[in-house]
Amino acid sequence: MELQCPKCEHELVRSGELKRHCESCKSDFKLHITCSTCGDEIERLKACGAVSFWCNECNEMKSKSSAVYTLQNDG
Ligand SMILES: [Zn+2]
Ligand SMILES: [Zn+2]
Repeated sequence: MELQCPKCEHELVRSGELKRHCESCKSDFKLHITCSTCGDEIERLKACGAVSFWCNECNEMKSKSSAVYTLQNDG
């Protein structure tokens, strides 16, 4: 899934597992993935190429649609 820069709406490029970079305004962002149910940070699990999520707080698997992506400015 591709994310847009919150500053200039340019498409962000992946610069690390949970890092994104905007080539347009040279900003770096940290990616936080949180649960849409409880708001806690959730873990990303990779199995057979499919991505799913695990929430420790809800104690259940989450689908992609329950994962909320938040970008935090990382200088
Ligand atoms: Zn930008
Ligand atoms: Zn949860």
